[in-house]
Amino acid sequence: MPDSGHRRRCAGGSRARAPVARPAVAPYTYRMTDIRVRIAPSPTGPLHLGTARTALFNFLFARHTGGTFIFRLEDTDQARSTEAFELDILEGMQWLGIRWDEGPGIGDEPERGAYGPYRQMQRLPRYAEAAAKLLAEDKAYYCYCSPEELEAERHRQEAAREPSRYNGRCAHLAAAERAAFDAEGRRPVIRFRIPERRVIAFDDIVRGHVEIDTNALGGDLVIVRSDGTPLYHFTVAVDDAAMAISHVIRGEDHLSNTPKHILLFEALGVPIPQFAHLPLILNPDRTKMSKRKSQTAVAAYRAEGFIPEAFVNYLALLGWSTGTEEEVLSEAELIERFNLSTVNSAGAVFDRERLIWLNGQWIRRLAADDLIDRLRPYVAGELAAGRIDWLPTDDEMHALMPIIQERLPTLASIGDLIGFIFRNDVDADVALLVPKRWDAATTATGLEAARATIAETGKGSWDAHGLEEPLRRLVEDRGWKAGDLFMAIRVAVTGRTATPPLFDTMVALGCGRTLARLDRAIEKLAGQATPNP
Ligand code: GLU
Repeated sequence: MPDSGHRRRCAGGSRARAPVARPAVAPYTYRMTDIRVRIAPSPTGPLHLGTARTALFNFLFARHTGGTFIFRLEDTDQARSTEAFELDILEGMQWLGIRWDEGPGIGDEPERGAYGPYRQMQRLPRYAEAAAKLLAEDKAYYCYCSPEELEAERHRQEAAREPSRYNGRCAHLAAAERAAFDAEGRRPVIRFRIPERRVIAFDDIVRGHVEIDTNALGGDLVIVRSDGTPLYHFTVAVDDAAMAISHVIRGEDHLSNTPKHILLFEALGVPIPQFAHLPLILNPDRTKMSKRKSQTAVAAYRAEGFIPEAFVNYLALLGWSTGTEEEVLSEAELIERFNLSTVNSAGAVFDRERLIWLNGQWIRRLAADDLIDRLRPYVAGELAAGRIDWLPTDDEMHALMPIIQERLPTLASIGDLIGFIFRNDVDADVALLVPKRWDAATTATGLEAARATIAETGKGSWDAHGLEEPLRRLVEDRGWKAGDLFMAIRVAVTGRTATPPLFDTMVALGCGRTLARLDRAIEKLAGQATPNP
């Protein structure tokens, strides 16, 4: 075990935060009970960072306004929905600290809320009832067109360069025609009538006034499949109405769906919620961030050692800002300042460097014990992977906090930062050991002199200042460049050229291990310096 002393430079003070001017945020004028918002993920993939951002904006909006935040699982795509994805989504949201007031998995309860169930597969009778109402009012109809017929029509439209839309063949079937199809054994879908040549206009809280022509919607919309299962546009409208959703806050990719939903709300005779479409999240090259091209699974960021405080802070700034220079914001500060109407409509570029920077900022704000707890699995992972030879004790980790806390970008980079301390040996590469201006013999001489100085220092105190002073004197006396000797020492004791500050590093390593590593490097250099006979 390292025999490091306990006298170290004091790192205190650097964590103090300068006071920042707090801007006044215009209060919302909504009545508290008006606001009901929701996140409605489909468990057809792991929690995506876009979904996490949407969930967070809903959560912040609800908390800021004193509203209610609902979690609804849109699991009607049974072929692609899995329990594992559902778990990943729930766990990811819990890890982020995004808490819902109604929905599945609250505390020990399987679900909570007066508007349940919150899984769409448990709401099938409600969709059937709504479909029956639309059929009875002739706002929807049975369509018997087979997939082959629809495909053939699509090809024809393509060839004729016509826009792709349902041609309305079954829109006005007589009872006898329907009976004939039934007799053939055809199983119909239900289509919702989309009016032609109508402009659907709405005022989006983020995007402003939006107008979409119903002719662009592809014709009458299938709302129930031939096997009786309802489809997304239909379930979303039925549920948003049934759950009294006041504001639909979701990604911009849903903007073109909104007119369909508005038409469905109208047809169902229910109030139309307000809409806020959040900007897309973009790669640095401004292409849409997709799971094929980029790391989009929240779990992957978690595994890398981003901490939730930082990740939430970062997500909040994807498309929104306080309008000031403030960047490091706690959940409470985000809730206090969040304002849906200041969300940007332009695409939000995902800037990994900024995320890493924020993570570092948040790591600095953690209490030492908390950080040590969070690092434990990552340190254990280093041991399991054979990159360190033993687990540091909590005391050792505490002693290393001045080195760690100011420098650690992610929890997973702990091995890179301090792993060399917890190895029996480092195998310093001679090519790295010998500084550019020196040869092997000079380096060996330099390290021997340094070793003697360090050994002498070690008899007294073992702290960074106590090490630095005599080594600087040595460099001066010999007319060396400090950078050369210090780099050789650094490589000898860590095996690497980039480490935390050299003297802190030696303090952490302890006197005995520092000297042993210097000896080993000197031996290696001696082997190099002696020409083979
Ligand atoms: N299930 C949809 C999705 O995951 C919900 C979209 C919406 O918020 O309306 O994209």
